[in-house]
Amino acid sequence: MPIFTPGQIDLLAAQFEHSSPQKIITWAVENFSPEIAMSSSFQTQSLPLLHIVAGIYPAIKIFFLDTGYHFWDTLIFREQLAWQYNLNLIDLYRDTSWIVFQQRFGRDLPQRDPNLCCFINKVQPMQKALAGLPAWITGIRRDQTKTRAAARILELQDDGLLKINPLLNWTRKDVEAYRIANRLPEHPLSPKGYRSIGCAPCTKPVGANEDERAGRWAGTRKTECGLHTEMFQQKDIDTGEIQHQFILHELEIKK
Ligand code: SF4
Repeated sequence: MPIFTPGQIDLLAAQFEHSSPQKIITWAVENFSPEIAMSSSFQTQSLPLLHIVAGIYPAIKIFFLDTGYHFWDTLIFREQLAWQYNLNLIDLYRDTSWIVFQQRFGRDLPQRDPNLCCFINKVQPMQKALAGLPAWITGIRRDQTKTRAAARILELQDDGLLKINPLLNWTRKDVEAYRIANRLPEHPLSPKGYRSIGCAPCTKPVGANEDERAGRWAGTRKTECGLHTEMFQQKDIDTGEIQHQFILHELEIKK
């Protein structure tokens, strides 16, 4: 497997600004398979990337974060797609060390501390799944959020993981055009106004003129789960006040 220097990655990232997703994915597969994975949230806008990648490399590992907070519609849709396209789907779960904590605080954790909840249920499981893999394909686009607007097509992380964002320059219209042209199905909640779909407690439908991701963590300042921010480089998180309550709760049980 070739090893690229940061300078070579910068150069390639600049060249890929003018390349199709198919060309970028083909390069990634030629250089990194079988040590490469992609992640998917199995919403309507995820399908074009799934379709392109699985068409180029059908055996690719596809990571799905099964947080325990998903809409049933998403889980059923995921199963249908995995069967229809024979996907090499791998579900990721929170670390077992969080089981008791989750039992105690899980019901309202998304409201009380969504960053902690995302770290436990998304960031840490993805970090563990990707440990040891050199390359990770994601479906982020520049037109989704301000954070994503600053992303690059190839991003070499501190731990050596190469993040590959082949759809970065596609717009929502491009994604939808590809989906329609290739007759890909639609998540059952999309026609009900859910244009970006994550976990149920943190997702609301949006109006026709609102941003695609306006229904994610609506009413808070949070716009990202942490997979595509600096949080992904964190090895641990401060559990603060909730952890304090948890320790008191544990001591209470042991009395
Ligand atoms: S999106 Fe919401 S429910 Fe899902 S992990 Fe993050 S905070 Fe928790």
